[in-house]
Amino acid sequence: MTKSRHSMLTSLLLVSGVAIAIGLIAGYPGWILAIALFGWAIYQIRQFNRLMGWFQADSSNEEPPEAPGHWGELFDELSRLQRSQAAREQALRNVITRFQDSSSALQDAVVIIDRNNNLEWWNQSANRLLGLDSRTDRAKPVMNLLRDPRFIRYFKRDQYNDPITLPSPAHSDIQIQYQITRFGDGDRLLVARDVSRLIRLEQTRQDFVANASHELRTPLTVIRGYLETFLDQELPRPLLRGLGSMQQQARRMENLVSDLLLLSRLEASHQISDEQPIQIHSILQHIIEGAEQLGQEKQHKLLLDMDTHYDLTGQEIELHSAFSNLVYNAVRYTPAEGEIKVSWWVDDQGGHFSVKDNGPGIESIHLPRLTERFYRVDESRSSASGGTGLGLAIVKHVLARHGGQLTIKSKVGKGSTFSCHFPKEMVIKAVDMDESEDDLSESGHPPVAS
Ligand code: ADP
Repeated sequence: MTKSRHSMLTSLLLVSGVAIAIGLIAGYPGWILAIALFGWAIYQIRQFNRLMGWFQADSSNEEPPEAPGHWGELFDELSRLQRSQAAREQALRNVITRFQDSSSALQDAVVIIDRNNNLEWWNQSANRLLGLDSRTDRAKPVMNLLRDPRFIRYFKRDQYNDPITLPSPAHSDIQIQYQITRFGDGDRLLVARDVSRLIRLEQTRQDFVANASHELRTPLTVIRGYLETFLDQELPRPLLRGLGSMQQQARRMENLVSDLLLLSRLEASHQISDEQPIQIHSILQHIIEGAEQLGQEKQHKLLLDMDTHYDLTGQEIELHSAFSNLVYNAVRYTPAEGEIKVSWWVDDQGGHFSVKDNGPGIESIHLPRLTERFYRVDESRSSASGGTGLGLAIVKHVLARHGGQLTIKSKVGKGSTFSCHFPKEMVIKAVDMDESEDDLSESGHPPVAS
């Protein structure tokens, strides 16, 4: 371009020089110069108009006009730029076509949602799985098309660490797992996967466990009944010892069966449906009494520290089961004369229940797996304690159904703290304050010692 500018100046100087020379010979230098400059300007305007004409016509298809000198150079330069631009466009188009072809071949639905929550692009599977229509739904708000309130809550929550599974809006018998990822400037990528088969398999597994546990119940009750009858008889000592041990194992199996049945019931739905106000105060008193009996010989120091001004809404039997599992675990695993502190308090995050002990503690490598069914840190210690190996799995499920979370902190040799955190929407003001206050010690927190 600089070269063109120079050659334009050179041509102007050349025209002016020649015009002045001819003008001097002819005796009219001024007139001749003016006429030459006028002619030069007309030529430039004409070339400029040709350029504009080429631009205004479909310049990508037509060759640029031919011209001598700097205009020719300019046209060539523009033509070269145009060709490289066209090559780049074609390469980009190829990439897009390949991306569209590969995403069309995907079984999962992929949807791009812009920063205003409108649908920008989606693949063919999205039409099938989510019922989107490429002709009518482009640029429509995603929440107008995927209207399930649970999806809308998930979408608005803006925290997409975990996926959500819901029935497909197009076919209610298809279960879809939605996962959203943020990208660019507030855009979102929604991936929806058909997980119906996985859910059916999971359902079959749950049904099997529930049915097997249910079927085991009756024979176990019969065995236990006979064992009790035999143990009431005058029998030789070795036989009595054997029957006693059989009775103990039968009781263990009964506990196992009832924990398995409870877990199956908890797994059947992800949310509680019958939530009621629960008096935390009375639940905890009841659990503490049970803990005192369970740990009678160990002489634990059992402390209860609770904010009696607040209660929870939820499912009482489930929460009782979760809290008692944590307290009884602490009693079972904490050695004699250890200290166990049970707390309930409320802050601006929500309601919190925790059980802290100064027992043996748990190595950090075990912590992530502790809530798995039958996961045990120390098999011999757990069997001796009489646990079923399902306690923490039950706690985790109960909390998930209440929108809560379980956290575990532990240090080997120092002790463990198991805490349940409930969202603040579940916390309510305690109703029966008078009765609650009667139970308070001076500090406001009644210590209960066993
Ligand atoms: P279990 O019926 O065997 O107690 P849980 O699911 O309740 O099963 O607990 C899983 C494992 O976690 C236990 O086997 C035990 O090793 C460990 N555990 C649970 N609570 C405590 C605790 N308070 N202190 C030390 N270990 C614990």
